[in-house]
Amino acid sequence: MESTRKQEELQKLHKGICRCRKCPLHQNRIHAVPGEGPVWSDILFIGEAPGKNEDEQGRPFVGRSGKILDLLLDKINMSREEVYITSTVKCRPPNNRTPLAKELGICKNNWLDRQISLIDPKIVVLLGKVSTNQMLEEKQKLSSLHGRTFRKNDRIYLATYNPAAAMRFPHIRNKILKDISELSELLK
Ligand code: URA
Repeated sequence: MESTRKQEELQKLHKGICRCRKCPLHQNRIHAVPGEGPVWSDILFIGEAPGKNEDEQGRPFVGRSGKILDLLLDKINMSREEVYITSTVKCRPPNNRTPLAKELGICKNNWLDRQISLIDPKIVVLLGKVSTNQMLEEKQKLSSLHGRTFRKNDRIYLATYNPAAAMRFPHIRNKILKDISELSELLK
């Protein structure tokens, strides 16, 4: 599909997400957070769920964890403008609780899978336990999955921690950095 057409399709998906009422998470949202980044991105990041700042602004990773993500991207000479960033669910769960299996399933089937196949990235970076478990159906702990790559449907999946974890446990920041520093090598 040519790039302009893909861009239009992505806009349509975003609109659908913003109007979505398929699960109860829509009830408390200020804004749905579809995701952002160029449709031609080779790398797609999947976080867990929008938090307070993301809900207020309708944009992914704009709070404190977003600052960490930006810093980490900068350290590997990448910028947010060249990657697509989204989350497993697009609406903020009440009190930032973990999304429920049903909510995750609905969001994946209706939106996330379609975002991935439209953008068609070479690498999907899974930020945290929730997105890793959902996309890889791996039951192991993130401590043994992070930094590892998995091949699925002709795509590479790289598991790492969510930058939000680095806010509470500063040593996690270096682990994420080490994991994602493989990205440019993997793109080759
Ligand atoms: N954490 C996430 O996983 N997603 C966001 O959009 C913000 C914080």
